[in-house]
Amino acid sequence: MKKFGHKSRQILLIEPRYKNKYPPIGLMKIATYHKMLGDQVIFYKGDVKTFIIDKLTQLCYTEMKAIDNIHWDKKTIARFIRVRHKKVLLELLSPSDTQHHENLTSVLRKYAKISKDKTCNQYICYDRVYITTLFTFYWNITIEAIEQAKLIVSNINNLKVGGILASLLAKEVEKETKIKPMQGLLDQTKALDNNSIIIDDLPLDYSILDEVDYEYPTGSAYFTFMTKGCTRKCKFCSVPKLEPTYKPKIPTKDKFEETKEKFGEQQHLLLMDNNVLGSPNFPEIIQEIKEMGFVKGAKFVEPNQLDIAIKNLKKGINDVAYINRCFSILSKFRHRCKNKKDIGVKVEKIIIQYKLSKKETVKKESLIFAYNDLKDIYEKYRNKIPKKRYVDFNQGLDARYINEENIKLLSEIPIYPLRIAFDYIGIKRQYEEAVRLSAKYNITRLSNYLLFNFKDKPIDLFRRMELNIDLSEELNIHIYSFPMKYIPLFGEEAKHRNYIGQHWNKKFIRAIQAISNVTRGIVPPGRSFFELAYGKNETEFMELLYMPESYLIYRSVFTKLGYIDKWRKLFISLNEKELSFAKDIIESNIFDNPLIQPNAKVVQLLQHYKITRKDIKENTDKEYKKVKQKFDRMINNDQFMDATLTYDSERRKAV
Ligand code: SF4
Repeated sequence: MKKFGHKSRQILLIEPRYKNKYPPIGLMKIATYHKMLGDQVIFYKGDVKTFIIDKLTQLCYTEMKAIDNIHWDKKTIARFIRVRHKKVLLELLSPSDTQHHENLTSVLRKYAKISKDKTCNQYICYDRVYITTLFTFYWNITIEAIEQAKLIVSNINNLKVGGILASLLAKEVEKETKIKPMQGLLDQTKALDNNSIIIDDLPLDYSILDEVDYEYPTGSAYFTFMTKGCTRKCKFCSVPKLEPTYKPKIPTKDKFEETKEKFGEQQHLLLMDNNVLGSPNFPEIIQEIKEMGFVKGAKFVEPNQLDIAIKNLKKGINDVAYINRCFSILSKFRHRCKNKKDIGVKVEKIIIQYKLSKKETVKKESLIFAYNDLKDIYEKYRNKIPKKRYVDFNQGLDARYINEENIKLLSEIPIYPLRIAFDYIGIKRQYEEAVRLSAKYNITRLSNYLLFNFKDKPIDLFRRMELNIDLSEELNIHIYSFPMKYIPLFGEEAKHRNYIGQHWNKKFIRAIQAISNVTRGIVPPGRSFFELAYGKNETEFMELLYMPESYLIYRSVFTKLGYIDKWRKLFISLNEKELSFAKDIIESNIFDNPLIQPNAKVVQLLQHYKITRKDIKENTDKEYKKVKQKFDRMINNDQFMDATLTYDSERRKAV
């Protein structure tokens, strides 16, 4: 690989501690870029403060070992550095029979002080630190990561912040942190250094994902774009700002081959294109996808991952990552061989001999030696069962562009699921036509995001969900809907998830979340469940939006108790004035304020809203539990479903 003849730099790539589904593509390209330049690259995902404490702990541990070479518990050292309590110090030193209390205490205090005074820069210092950012509502977590990263970078100008939040809230980030973010894509020369490399065109460094414990649910997959940007400018969408220029065809094949060569064949193809159907090169794109091996019915046999990892270890591509990967592969293989008598014994023996049973004792050299003894057994007994391969345009396809010609092309690749955007009711005709065409070409598993809380009315959401139920039934297909709450793209309201659209209110938003929570945010096909959850018609749906939250969640319990009936009778018995008064209070979703103008019926109605989920033991609602278990199982078995779900829905237990 071409080196650019400068001194090797220490580079730290950070993804903040939010939970997310897709790996940080931008950082994976930056990793490739810096390795091309001969720099040392480390990837970290999580709380930067913990990263710093871990590094200080390692330094402290080394100094303690030099004073007294006995076993020191790193976890307790880290705890002391973090909390600086005398009790923890005693916990660490007292049980040992060391004669060097004074020196050891002074070392421990030194590192605890460094942590407290935030002077770690003289001990932990990177030539450049990159922080990727994601959704704007991760504002607090992101700012906290930037502030921590300032402590470990050589110079504030070498702290680079990019990605979605950084591009959408660039001014706000700069105001808060004094760091000017990099906005948009790194698709020009000299973007980071004085060279001609276009970082956005580089292949991804998949190895960095093995450096961290965090597991992205996407599994074995190629992540790529065949186009960039979008041909439209929807007001609710960040793409026009993030990727303002539409690029109808990105060269992919070479990068794909390089990935295959370096990291092994991947099972699925995840395409992050925002509007691939807007591309005049679409037939060419499908042809390329087929040439990559993604044809209808394609099967995938996992390559010998251990062999790839050992080869990469020998080449010194990323030791930390490949040691982790080998350890994980071997742990699974060891488990797999457990019941294979002689083989199991042989594998066990090798693992013990080379100290490969605990992560802390695994060494690069021992892995390479152990592999000589293991390779034939591994090759013979590893999992070679062919698995299905899928292609997923995970940002969804634009219904308005779908026609007979392109859907036919799509049907020639193993697309799963077919995601068609249904962002607002205004595109109902085009959406319906697109679904019908998909069914005609035998694409039977569909999925779509339903944006709500923007300019739409609640009833529009019901109509879109109901249409999906109707179409699933009529065409004998499965359409899974995923209602997605709109959050503003810019300004203060983008920094959290509390925004309420002009036709929505707090109670309605909570109601949608409460209803969909049992299915973890999915609206599955199937009329009976839908009617039970969202109502048989528009009137029932609107009534449900006003229903007390606990009743919505534990429907069967409160039906049996007769409370739902009582509530409904009261609700519909209110006269216009009473109803308007009650609705104002319900829509605010605040029920603990004393009423200004008490009305006996309204007061009685509002009593129902004071029953909280704490008053109900989750286990008492068997139906709730059963449905939840069913969907948990379904999601866990379907990585595409899992990757579709936002943590917005998962974060909430029954709301
Ligand atoms: S068509 Fe899709 S990607 Fe394009 S601007 Fe609209 S919402 Fe965004």
